[in-house]
Amino acid sequence: MTWHADLHSHTTTSDGTLSPEALVALAAAQDLRCLAVTDHDTTGAVHAAARAARSHGLQIVAGIEISAWLGHEIHILGLFLNPDDPTLAQVMAGRALQRQERVREIAARLTALGCPIDAEAIVAEAGGRASNVGRPHVARALVAAGHVGHVEEAFRRFLGRDAPAYVPSKPLEARAAIELIHGAGGVASLAHPGIEDIDDQIPVLADFGLDAIEIRHPAHDAERVSRYAGIAGLLRLDASGGADFHTLEGQPRPGDHGVGPEALERLRARAPNPFSLA
Ligand code: AMP
Ligand code: ZN
Ligand code: FE
Ligand code: FE
Repeated sequence: MTWHADLHSHTTTSDGTLSPEALVALAAAQDLRCLAVTDHDTTGAVHAAARAARSHGLQIVAGIEISAWLGHEIHILGLFLNPDDPTLAQVMAGRALQRQERVREIAARLTALGCPIDAEAIVAEAGGRASNVGRPHVARALVAAGHVGHVEEAFRRFLGRDAPAYVPSKPLEARAAIELIHGAGGVASLAHPGIEDIDDQIPVLADFGLDAIEIRHPAHDAERVSRYAGIAGLLRLDASGGADFHTLEGQPRPGDHGVGPEALERLRARAPNPFSLA
């Protein structure tokens, strides 16, 4: 089945493989009514998606998926926010610069380890997707340079948490991410809590002002869906859901996971200043 609304998707503006226009065409062909575009740490694809959606009768929700920190990395979705909010833009531009600087630091360590790669080529190639540049890009460069046989080996020997070229990224604190989303008029939903297995931290996030939990997601089986619905009920949080679409290779497609019209309107009503794309 296709859901009424899918509130989690990626484009080439972050690490998806479809342009905003191609994503919209796919979502419309799936008979989806509403799609949130939630690229990693950028709202850069939202306006292009909304323009493309007009001729398809598809509603676009302006969104973002912010990498945030709560003792480890978590992802927080911002939905119904102003994609051009100046504070949001400023903070995300700073994050992108930090990630580029981190790639240079990793490259310097790799040079010292006898496996040089071209950091500037990675940063330049990332271009508009720089908000998400990081270890996967370095791993592919290590493979291309012949220093390792495959990406897994790059992580095991160099880039993994206990490996010699590991440089931690410094995401935004979770509380700051939630406040940033509210400041831009949107609601904050905890993305795929089942991936990080962070049930015990959800009350802390609720204290920070979290509005919702992403209940339906490809990483959540039926047991998790009902568990997160229960936690949301106890903490008076709303529900979001989406397919976290990245690529046509494999499943899922936009609308395979999502929410119905009532949950969509509850979320919109919870936004301090819900943004409408014309
Ligand atoms: P970064 O945000 O730059 O620290 O990169 C994190 C990303 O690296 C994750 O989202 C994964 O896609 C990828 N990654 C982490 N560990 C591994 C691994 N062992 N093998 C392959 N990819 C990995
Ligand atoms: Zn992604
Ligand atoms: Fe995520
Ligand atoms: Fe995602």
